[in-house]
Amino acid sequence: MAVPNLTRADAQTRAALLQVSSYDVELDLTDGGGKPGDRIFRSRTTVRFGCQRPTASTFIDLIADGFHEVSLNGEPVEVSEYAPERGIALTNLAAENTLVVDADCIYTNTGEGLHRFIDPVDGSVYLYSQFETADAKRMYACFDQPDLKATFTLRTIAPDDWKIVSNGRIERTEEVGPATRTHFATTMRMSPYITALVAGPYHEVRDRHDGIELGVYCRASLAEHMDAEEIFAVTKQGFDFFHEAFGYRYAFDKYDQCFVPEFNAGAMENAGCITLLEDYVFRSKVTDASYERRAETILHEMAHMWFGDLVTMRWWDDLWLNESFATYAAVLCQAAATRWTEAWTTFANVEKTWAYRQDQLPSTHPIAADIPDVQAVEVNFDGITYAKGASVLKQLVAYVGQPAFLDAMKSYFRDHEFGNTTLADLLGALEKSSGRDLSHWSAQWLETAGLNGMRPEFTVDDDGRFTSFAVLQDAPGEHNMLRDHRLAIGLYAGTPLRRVQRTELDVAGARTDVPDLIGQPQPELVLVNDDDLTYAKVRLDEQSLATAAERIGEIADSLPRALLWSATWDMTRDAEMATRDYAALVLHGIGSETSIGVVQSLLLQVQTALGSYADPAWAPTGFGQLADMAAESLRTAAPGSDHQLAWARLLASSARAPAHLATVSGLLDGTVDVPGLRIDTDMRWALLSGLVAMGAAGDAQIEAEADRDPTAAGQRHAATSRARRPTAEAKAEAWRLATEDDTVPNATNIAIIRGFSHPAQRDLLRPYTAKYFAIIDDVWARRSSEIAQNVVVGLFPPVVEQSTVDAADAWLAEEDKPPSLRRLVLEGRDTTARCLRNQVRDAAAG
Ligand SMILES: [Zn+2]
Repeated sequence: MAVPNLTRADAQTRAALLQVSSYDVELDLTDGGGKPGDRIFRSRTTVRFGCQRPTASTFIDLIADGFHEVSLNGEPVEVSEYAPERGIALTNLAAENTLVVDADCIYTNTGEGLHRFIDPVDGSVYLYSQFETADAKRMYACFDQPDLKATFTLRTIAPDDWKIVSNGRIERTEEVGPATRTHFATTMRMSPYITALVAGPYHEVRDRHDGIELGVYCRASLAEHMDAEEIFAVTKQGFDFFHEAFGYRYAFDKYDQCFVPEFNAGAMENAGCITLLEDYVFRSKVTDASYERRAETILHEMAHMWFGDLVTMRWWDDLWLNESFATYAAVLCQAAATRWTEAWTTFANVEKTWAYRQDQLPSTHPIAADIPDVQAVEVNFDGITYAKGASVLKQLVAYVGQPAFLDAMKSYFRDHEFGNTTLADLLGALEKSSGRDLSHWSAQWLETAGLNGMRPEFTVDDDGRFTSFAVLQDAPGEHNMLRDHRLAIGLYAGTPLRRVQRTELDVAGARTDVPDLIGQPQPELVLVNDDDLTYAKVRLDEQSLATAAERIGEIADSLPRALLWSATWDMTRDAEMATRDYAALVLHGIGSETSIGVVQSLLLQVQTALGSYADPAWAPTGFGQLADMAAESLRTAAPGSDHQLAWARLLASSARAPAHLATVSGLLDGTVDVPGLRIDTDMRWALLSGLVAMGAAGDAQIEAEADRDPTAAGQRHAATSRARRPTAEAKAEAWRLATEDDTVPNATNIAIIRGFSHPAQRDLLRPYTAKYFAIIDDVWARRSSEIAQNVVVGLFPPVVEQSTVDAADAWLAEEDKPPSLRRLVLEGRDTTARCLRNQVRDAAAG
């Protein structure tokens, strides 16, 4: 089936022609006998809408399997020419219209539209919807674009024991034969992409705060693991903070948060009916970093109730208006109103790292993007849209001040409630509140791509005092724009190392003198962009780098430590530091790092570096050192601590040598005991997966573990482990399942892809370079957007060799490739080329 791809031009035409008043939707989710339906569900929609130019024509979006009735103003509509990619053609419109579309729609297994899942534990059927970017049309007939808002009235017919959640509150229920009809209240005006339905025998917990009804839902088989109290606590902190900060009360009926199976993203901001990744219901021990990220996600979706749902971008060019604001506002709230007071450290560590990486790819783009059609936005939920946008907002707040920023938000929500906006509306509000002209700022930060580098340059006299000090700015790559930055410089000295001076200033152009620092003694460490106000890659001078390498753990604040770690990671990625030197630096300093989130990021980065950036001849030595460190730290970490858990997971994934594999195996079978370390379900899978990758465990152990954990998560872990087996047959089977088998649901597809590549298996993986380029055009044409992206990104040839780059270049040289697919291949090619440069750099250090 060809996937519809609405263009901006068509959306503009339709928005100029129509005003949509209401959708009235009735869905029958049963098989007719009171049991859950199987492949299809019946969807009857009544749409009321006005038309500016009577007699004109338009179309309404729907992906249907068949029709029972389609009528416009009482007259039948011809659907014999219907094709999902074009929707239903509507001709001879009246000034006021009533359209009825009664159709059969199809459940999906890709997380797009109305997703259907069967719990392997109890056989229960669970449904949830996911409509962003443009999949509401998979559940009901609609004008599926963000600037055609309407009220939404839903009724469902479903099994009696199901919980049904949607945007509105439930008004009443009634028996209809062997099933139940649920009537939902009519909603406020909203875009189709934030309407929602969650249905099934979900477990429900209720609470109430400040007059808002709260609900939390998960599958019945996960109920024992759900910590609803902690989720409600963050939810309440969020509402109090946002009500105060935005000066506008929550606009929708009630607030339900549903943890749903096989979800593609972290969460989705359906108005009053949030869906979240079910992995956030923790069934095994996780570190506090996971709780912190979950809270960030909860607050991000809540911020969307204002940015996105109450006020919505007109078209997807301004997706960043939604995502950057939600990302920024979530961290602002998290740091101010929750127990995660160091949330800006995590922001520096996670979001900024993501943004810097994305901004250095050849596909980078301005934050305010040019999105000609829906397919273009579906590859644009990226590090620029979320993380760079939020970083730039942080820089804007440093520039205009937080009170002016929040004042602007207050009037923005008031002026545009239940409407749609563009960047100009936002800048207008900010200019009014701050009294500044922001056109220059917007041109520099929102309308151009690329990032700047910053480094200090200074001279000192015989007494060791600065005689000159400047911040140098550059703009590497093709986007050679120098920008205006508001930033701080921190000077660190003494024992323990602490900040002895902070200077905040405006930086512009290639060189900015800092007269404040002249005459100051040169400290042990100079940190440009201290407090992380601006968005730039920072370099350290030689002495500061040496100090950081030796003494980073002495700095009490987590944020400057994270910034220093980030600077060394950037140097490594840019081949200015050899991978083995970076690994040595991390292994030396990580023991004194107290922030568990930073520790986990560093361990991930060092594994990435060893797997992809290290000279292949030296990489096994590096992994050996890493596993030694993991084994040692596992025993010295505080029993039961988050650090201990992180080290155990690292040992599982980095063990290569027989001694380490024996420890991993012993932890799994219980013959090795580490006090305080719980070998729970997910830890067992982590240990087993590490053994499988190295051929130290095989089919029998995987199947035994799958029997022991017969849950959906267990099935996915088993799929990952099977794909990870180091045999040609296992790789061939995983490849077939991931790329060819439409019956494999999205989450299993991802699990298989995750297992397919492993740094120790390059010989087995080499044949798949040619196979990859032979199939991706077909995958892109045939599979849904989510699955196609998973395959194209996740199976990009992992073997770091020139032949991979050559194969990508040959594919890219062919004509008529879809632009979005081209973009993803270009990103993979660039990443491989970077790995090659780093391998050369690392070999030179050997
Ligand atoms: Zn979001």
